[in-house]
Amino acid sequence: MNSPKLRCRFWETVPLEKMTHDEWEALCDGCGKCCMNKLEDEETGEVALTNIACRLLDDETCRCSQYPIRHQFVPECIVLKPQNIEENLYWMPQTCAYKLLWNGQKLKDWHPLISGDPESVHLAGVSMRGRTVPEFEVPEEDWEEYIIEEPT
Ligand code: SF4
Ligand code: SF4
Repeated sequence: MNSPKLRCRFWETVPLEKMTHDEWEALCDGCGKCCMNKLEDEETGEVALTNIACRLLDDETCRCSQYPIRHQFVPECIVLKPQNIEENLYWMPQTCAYKLLWNGQKLKDWHPLISGDPESVHLAGVSMRGRTVPEFEVPEEDWEEYIIEEPT
């Protein structure tokens, strides 16, 4: 059941830029993939995903451990909003709910808003839960060895 702060099936009817703060936040499926470090090829611009997690990611919950105050620790963490989605699409995970809706696609069946269960993203095997390595454990010159295929 939806929380009273969320309009019924808002993701199907409300454009991203018209969503309330709570609706916007509820769109995040909790996959944790955007909190992985990425490697960008300077020549091709291609972006590779690694399983090396940002220092604030909690591998068990797959959520940021300091979300409200994260910029005190990770100033470069991007605050995604309708105005900057387009410029960030190139690195965003394929299944990211924001990317899907921006591209006019539907949320996946395992999305917690559809399933009603926050665990469904993990049960579907598309999240990073239990798969990450903390960034302080791997020197940056070795990150290439941790490149992974996005779980989808
Ligand atoms: S990739 Fe998208 S849906 Fe997944 S955790 Fe990041 S913002 Fe949320
Ligand atoms: S600061 Fe938090 S939200 Fe930002 S990348 Fe790190 S874990 Fe993710």
